[in-house]
Amino acid sequence: MAGVKTVKAWAAKEPKGKLERFEYELPGIGKEQVDIKITHCGLCFSDLSMINNDWGMAQFPLVPGHEIVGEVIQTGDDVKGVKVGDKVGLGWFSESCMHCRQCMEGRHHFCAKIEQTIVGRHGGFADLVRSHWSWVIVLPERIDLAKAGPLLCAGITVFNPIIKANVRPTDKVGVIGIGGLGHLAIRFLKHWGCEVVAFSSNKSKEEEIRRMGATTVIDSTNTEELKKMKGQLNFIMSTVNIPLDWDDYLDCLALQGELHTVGIVLEPMSIPAFSLINGEKKVAGSPGSSPAATKTMLDFCVRHGIYPTVEEFPMEQINEAIRHLQEGKARYRIVLKNQ
Ligand code: NAP
Ligand code: ZN
Repeated sequence: MAGVKTVKAWAAKEPKGKLERFEYELPGIGKEQVDIKITHCGLCFSDLSMINNDWGMAQFPLVPGHEIVGEVIQTGDDVKGVKVGDKVGLGWFSESCMHCRQCMEGRHHFCAKIEQTIVGRHGGFADLVRSHWSWVIVLPERIDLAKAGPLLCAGITVFNPIIKANVRPTDKVGVIGIGGLGHLAIRFLKHWGCEVVAFSSNKSKEEEIRRMGATTVIDSTNTEELKKMKGQLNFIMSTVNIPLDWDDYLDCLALQGELHTVGIVLEPMSIPAFSLINGEKKVAGSPGSSPAATKTMLDFCVRHGIYPTVEEFPMEQINEAIRHLQEGKARYRIVLKNQ
């Protein structure tokens, strides 16, 4: 058939399954679609949660991977803003309708018909991915392509709350969980001008965490240690996916402070009302942001040299890479590279 492409990918065939070589066919390109030849793809904890079907929305075979960097090799006739040869990125989202209220307001990530790159379609652990033009982000010229992938999911996910919560350069702030998202959050907040306190459960990361820009490192699981921060932090971002004693963290907030989770904790967060009422504190969460905000973030990264610390694996070693992340050994983001 004219225009059909065979994609060479890595897929889990069942929940918790190992990734196996998997080929699938894409029909001729649609008018608003863009085909990207993938060079790099970051490995996010959300890929693991999808492989394990922890959120109940995975469809198998599942090709994970949503921190994609590559080059545009074909565009449909009605594609806007992207052309063949552009170096681009693609993150968690891959299509918005471009006419619902949310899209018209520039909040494409809340589009009524939003498509997610690895939900019901195939993602970036492959040689090719197809997307609607709206979410194909043309990368700034001077960006480091080998390290840009994780900015498309981890980066925008931790950048957005800094904007939404109106974090000020004079604020003292906290980041809980120093993994892929958390280590980028420290770097963003440091460059924002804030004093940054890191909460980590892993003593061996302490030196590196200080080099990222945190002035203080506290054991995230130790109630006694947390007391040192009582009433001090204007904003705390949590990137962990396990339940912590949230009330201890609310105690660390200054008056009118915000505890913001981007980590996907499935267990309900237990929050006593008095912990919010006394001090007018807030608890919030968020899912990344729009294509325009992503571009703003990428420019900020290039201006300040903000990149993830990456460990590169060849795409063929995807299962070793997954094990490495699962065992808590990633320092601090794994990126898969196509040879
Ligand atoms: P990650 O690299 O594994 O980092 C998570 C960190 O949490 C770990 O490095 C660890 O930091 C801490 N942690 C893990 N297990 C722990 C435990 N038992 N006790 C205490 N701390 C623990 O994962 P990631 O890729 O950054 O993703 C983090 C979360 O964000 C996941 O839930 C992911 O699904 C979610 N996510 C959400 C969005 C969104 O749109 N909201 C987007 C992307 C990802 P320490 O070693 O420093 O303790
Ligand atoms: Zn992600």
